[in-house]
Amino acid sequence: MTVAEHRRGMPQGEQLVLCRDEDSGLEAAIAVDDTTLGPGLGGVRFVPYPSFDDAVAEASRLARVMTLKNALADIPYGGAKSVIVKHDGLDAEPARRSAQLRSFAAFVRDLDGAYIPGVDMGTSTEDLTLIKTMAPWVSCDHDDPSPATALGVFHSMAAAVRHVSGRDMTGVRVVIQGAGHVGSSLALLLHAHGAQVAVCDVDTERAARLSEQIGGTVVSPEGCHTAPCDVFAPCAGARVLHPDSIAELRCSLVVGAANDMLAARSCADLMERRGILYIPDFVSNAGGVVCIHAERARWDEHTLSSALEGIGRRTTELLDDSVSSSPLDTAELWASERLGHRVTVPD
Ligand code: NAD
Repeated sequence: MTVAEHRRGMPQGEQLVLCRDEDSGLEAAIAVDDTTLGPGLGGVRFVPYPSFDDAVAEASRLARVMTLKNALADIPYGGAKSVIVKHDGLDAEPARRSAQLRSFAAFVRDLDGAYIPGVDMGTSTEDLTLIKTMAPWVSCDHDDPSPATALGVFHSMAAAVRHVSGRDMTGVRVVIQGAGHVGSSLALLLHAHGAQVAVCDVDTERAARLSEQIGGTVVSPEGCHTAPCDVFAPCAGARVLHPDSIAELRCSLVVGAANDMLAARSCADLMERRGILYIPDFVSNAGGVVCIHAERARWDEHTLSSALEGIGRRTTELLDDSVSSSPLDTAELWASERLGHRVTVPD
């Protein structure tokens, strides 16, 4: 565990499994943060990291956020997350990728059900099907949960906009960072509800294609957080809200899908001081885990759709209840009450 001990802001969860396999070249970490409410549910992220230490820290932070998200969404799961370090070039080779996923699956199997992996950045339902051959409790029967995540973010955003301005989404200017699975579904929803959407992506062609589809605009990935808008919607990587980016925000609301958006908990206070309302990511982006639970619990369409709308109702209640505290404080308090002990986002 020493590899992790010096990582600042790394939550101390229940289990941290460091996975290495020289034959396949696997380098991965599985963090099980809290299983008070059930097995840890959280995606497998397969992306490049500057170092293994960074990957371990990201898994631990994201697992903590999943604890808060699953508790607040009132579903019977704890928080967990895993990351596999992608070595650019090398891991694009299909045989090597499969070997790494099989090796990773053996570590998941050894956790004996304490960790239920799902899709995340860089993984697909095909990858999960492969992992499931060794760990049968894996959740991969569902379709891609991203549209459900986007719908939850949409309901949360619409509720927040209504709360602060009494308006619906018509004409509301939204900048979406990340035109991937969630960002693109969100853009389509916003466009259908009359919002003015601008998108950015490091994959500039992807951003251009999406913007053409919705008659929107493209902003540069470097400058997207500085674009004037009503709502900034991070739908890409973690920790995009740090003191420097917050100082440059030109929006009144931040609501998005990206997990672990805050570089540190204090960043929520920085936004509040600037008069920017931040809806905690683990409130707005719960649609994906709700969708996974719906499939496992065999909910009908109506129950699922009502639960996704519930993310909007929860956002409204959160804002109504946050008169003398921030929405982040209130959301952490609600999740902690359900867990029976205090849990906060990573520092
Ligand atoms: P994705 O990999 O499909 O899309 C991410 C997109 O962001 C990609 O197109 C990528 O090129 C782009 N990107 C990466 N860095 C960027 C940057 N600096 N600036 C602009 N664009 C950048 O991932 P996704 O499934 O859409 O998930 C997006 C975020 O939402 C992640 O943080 C994920 O953890 C979170 N999330 C996803 C779900 C889900 O159901 N997919 C559920 C909850 C939370």
